[in-house]
Amino acid sequence: MKNFSKNIFWAVLTLVIASVVFSMVYQTSQPPAKLSLSELALKVNAGEVAQIKVSGDTLSIRLKNDQKATSKKEVEAGLTESLKNFGVQPEALAKVEISVQDPSGWQFWGGLLIPTVLPILLIGFLFWLMFRQARGGMNQAFSFGRSNIRLSTFGNERITFQDVAGLKEAKEELVEVVDFLRNPKKYLELGARIPRGVLLVGQPGTGKTMLARAVAGESNVPFFHTSASEFVEMFVGVGASRIRDSFATARKAAPSILFIDEIDAVGRQRGAGLGGGNDEREQTLNQILVELDGFDRETRVIILAATNRPDILDPALLRPGRFDRRVLLDLPDLNDREAILKIHARDKILEPNCDLRRVAVRTPGFSGADLANLMNESALLAARQNKKAVSQEELFESVEKVLLGPERRGRVISQSEKEITAYHEGGHALVAASIQGSDPVHKVSIISRGFTGGYTMKLPIEDRRLRTRKQFLADLAMFMGGYASEKLVFGDISTGASSDLKEASELARSLVTKYGMSELGPITFGKSEELIFLGREISAEKNYSEAIATKIDAAVQDLMAHAYLTAQKILKAHRKALDKIAQVLLEKETLEQEEFAALLKPFKIKPIVIT
Ligand code: ADP
Ligand code: MG
Ligand code: ZN
Repeated sequence: MKNFSKNIFWAVLTLVIASVVFSMVYQTSQPPAKLSLSELALKVNAGEVAQIKVSGDTLSIRLKNDQKATSKKEVEAGLTESLKNFGVQPEALAKVEISVQDPSGWQFWGGLLIPTVLPILLIGFLFWLMFRQARGGMNQAFSFGRSNIRLSTFGNERITFQDVAGLKEAKEELVEVVDFLRNPKKYLELGARIPRGVLLVGQPGTGKTMLARAVAGESNVPFFHTSASEFVEMFVGVGASRIRDSFATARKAAPSILFIDEIDAVGRQRGAGLGGGNDEREQTLNQILVELDGFDRETRVIILAATNRPDILDPALLRPGRFDRRVLLDLPDLNDREAILKIHARDKILEPNCDLRRVAVRTPGFSGADLANLMNESALLAARQNKKAVSQEELFESVEKVLLGPERRGRVISQSEKEITAYHEGGHALVAASIQGSDPVHKVSIISRGFTGGYTMKLPIEDRRLRTRKQFLADLAMFMGGYASEKLVFGDISTGASSDLKEASELARSLVTKYGMSELGPITFGKSEELIFLGREISAEKNYSEAIATKIDAAVQDLMAHAYLTAQKILKAHRKALDKIAQVLLEKETLEQEEFAALLKPFKIKPIVIT
């Protein structure tokens, strides 16, 4: 629209200029005086006329005093004849220089052409302007189907495998891919089929995009980078044509790598039939399948794709010959976390006594992105306090900040609210410390943070993949510690326990329905189905009878009640310890692991075993 008004402006401007020029041209060709033939005759007789030019009927007259004038003669008659009729003496006429011109000078043509051709030219010019604009729009329409695939050079930001910590297995797989692109002969001679598609699978922030970039940095072949969301358009067929374009570009540049990030945007299972634009996505996916099949054995193009939802990908995408290699990127374990922290500490100034290992211990479940964020937060914190280097304190502080949100020391809390929080958190901590096999308490705090009033941080001693029933029961009891403590001490319960109860209930229900860890025995109940379009577990299909449902509810209730009793028993038995913890928390607001252990020592608590 802006373009249009701009063009209008130009058109009007040209018109104005043209008319000005026009009028100027006519003005100059308009001599000042017009004489009638009789006046001319008088002037000739008086000897004032120097020259007369005849051009058609028009007479251009130059007087002796260099003035100019025009006149018209009679149409049919010659000039001399006309003048004679007006009484001009032949002698006087002889002194006048008379020339007859064919009316063919530029004046004639100009007079003829300017009024006719110029408007045509103008109109033509206007048309041209309009045309040009229309063609611009059309070009846009045509470039629609082209992909905005980017050839990544990553200039000075080149990443290699060295910059990616951990992920050993994933790297090994990808090293092979890189090697293949470099020496395909070695593989082809053995009759091996070239890997075609490699799917990087992992939770958000585990380094999928980063690893792909590292492959680009290592392989020294052209690396095309695109995101599947760029193939999603409103118009059916556009995505497919962009896919075609991307693959064609990669093929032209072979050997090369084509990286499609977040492929689940188009790679969802077909035929879900939910939501609009489904057709378009199916076409796009089909085109990917076709393109993947279109490579022959020798084509040295490898397709890398990344997703965090492999479960929703279309099975056709994952069959051999397509994305048959799946590289799993796990959440980092303790050693990997330390390595990642080290990588992100490289460009920061840390105090020499900083121990990143201890930070790694406190961050199970953190992804690479979380850890990178943590290091950045610690630098920000140090800068805010005008420190020259980041200390251990800021590192720990940022762990909690990333985990729970920023501290809210500013929030005004009444003394009674503080007491409730101190006993609540003290209850969690004491229960955790009093059950065998429970994770050790790393920190207790009653400083409000994010949405929580206070928190108790307990961390596993080692990374684990498997969890046992005993651990779950200990967790349940620990969840109930806050609730039980409030009830025991104040005889009342606050809303502060609600999120504990929610988490505990969910855990208890999972124990019954998913893990077979209740008296209902080794069986799972319910089939949770994902509505593909929403990508969420929103409908849990009930595949059991109402009678069983009652039993499940009873079992869950039983677990919860049991956990509550356990917590209550512990807190009653060690009431003195609980009071002490709450008292110290009210004074100091936070207790670190060592302080907490020292505090409990005099009470000689013997951890109980729960079954
Ligand atoms: P995603 O898996 O969601 O694509 P990214 O690759 O974008 O995650 O990772 C986000 C950021 O997390 C990276 O830019 C990097 O700083 C950090 N990161 C993730 N994994 C690692 C790792 N293994 N080593 C070093 N940094 C990592
Ligand atoms: Mg990514
Ligand atoms: Zn709590």
